[in-house]
Amino acid sequence: MNCLFCDIVRKKRPAQILHEDNLVMAFEDIEPQAPVHVLVIPKKHIPTSLDIKEEDFSLIGHLFQTACRIARQKGIAGRGFRLVMNCNREAGQTVFHLHLHVLGGRGMHWPPG
Ligand code: 5GP
Ligand code: ZN
Repeated sequence: MNCLFCDIVRKKRPAQILHEDNLVMAFEDIEPQAPVHVLVIPKKHIPTSLDIKEEDFSLIGHLFQTACRIARQKGIAGRGFRLVMNCNREAGQTVFHLHLHVLGGRGMHWPPG
């Protein structure tokens, strides 16, 4: 299977990794849209949020916990940050391996573009 993020998990593709454990990985986005832009992914290949199964619920909890840990580490937790998970094309999903964007370090607009 051809998947950019599976390649990062398998260390076949370089990334600036901030956190790694047996379930998840966090790394810098290659094209940051904010001063802080980190991607948090499950190591398991799950294409979109529509594919999350009940057996993945604790993994998804861990994904969010890791995103919050990154926000604290980056010093943006108190100021505020945004967690984004795009699902399918019209939302702007381009990589079909589940990922949570951690965005911060600047004011975020609402509604999002
Ligand atoms: P999506 O648009 O699917 O929600 O987000 C995909 C994100 O992955 C984009 O923000 C894009 O910049 C990032 N990205 C795409 N390819 C790579 C890559 O090879 N390495 C890293 N670190 N980020 C990537
Ligand atoms: Zn994958």
